[in-house]
Amino acid sequence: MNEYVIETRDLTKKYKNKIVVDRLNLHVQKGKIYALLGRNGAGKTTTMKMLLNLVKPTSGSIILFDGNGSDFSKENCHRIGSVIEAPAFYENLTAKENLGILARLRGKHRKDMVENALSIMNLDGENKKLFREYSLGMKQRLGLAAAIMHEPELLILDEPMNGLDPIGIHETRAYLLQLCRERGTTIFISSHALNEIEMLADVIGIIDQGKLLEETSLKELYRHNRRYAEFSVSDVNKAALVLESEFYISDYTIMDKHILRLYEKLDSRGRINSSFVKEGIVVDNVSIGAGKLEDYFSELVGGEGIG
Ligand code: ATP
Repeated sequence: MNEYVIETRDLTKKYKNKIVVDRLNLHVQKGKIYALLGRNGAGKTTTMKMLLNLVKPTSGSIILFDGNGSDFSKENCHRIGSVIEAPAFYENLTAKENLGILARLRGKHRKDMVENALSIMNLDGENKKLFREYSLGMKQRLGLAAAIMHEPELLILDEPMNGLDPIGIHETRAYLLQLCRERGTTIFISSHALNEIEMLADVIGIIDQGKLLEETSLKELYRHNRRYAEFSVSDVNKAALVLESEFYISDYTIMDKHILRLYEKLDSRGRINSSFVKEGIVVDNVSIGAGKLEDYFSELVGGEGIG
């Protein structure tokens, strides 16, 4: 049986007359990394704020920890760590001082928890630097350190990679994977860019205009990537005729005046090439490729897609 750490039922938020989260049914399994992927304004932050009791839903319900601790009592808040929007810290204090204050405020203060969190986020070498001297990446990492300090079972992270350079993104991804694999932390993370969360998420929920369009494993999503052989030829119509009459191939697409993509019998591309040449068709190039997830997203959400 699936054990859900987050489950929502028809979760909805309306601001005045505008529905910004529309009957969302999320299923976040224990110990998994779930990424909520959507364009700016899709409703990701509002969803996360509702999960954290920072915004009241208009309708629908939220079940946390399989119903054990859905209330936001102090006890249950300890089970959740979050980074929502820019984390606020004292500018004129160091990371250690900032986390020390937070730890005391939260109660349950264990002596080594600040050091541990700083070490996991690779900030333990920065003990003299004040927060105002931190780079954006370091600030983001400190936000994450604050979120994981009390070893929560569930992490809710709103675009934690925003503003990070590719190395920062790579490192954050590695920390999150480590937390999930080693501590069994469930992670619910939002992003507007597929490349940030591929190789990280087990499950992806795609949200657009407040609606959950798809909730699927990353593996399943990649099935949309079909392999193809692409021929660059002088005459696509003539080439298509050869494919159909000589090779009985019907699964192909004419991309433009010179490009044709073939989705079946890819292993015959050498023989197809020879036949094209025999028929007087000039072949400039033959290559193997795969459909892009971005194209699939464009189909799904229309317009520019995601990523
Ligand atoms: P981004 O990646 O830009 O943060 P998002 O997917 O997190 O986008 P939200 O911040 O949840 O999206 O916003 C969803 C919609 O709700 C937007 O149209 C936004 O303008 C609107 N919205 C958010 N908060 C409020 C509010 N307090 N009052 C009115 N409208 C709001």
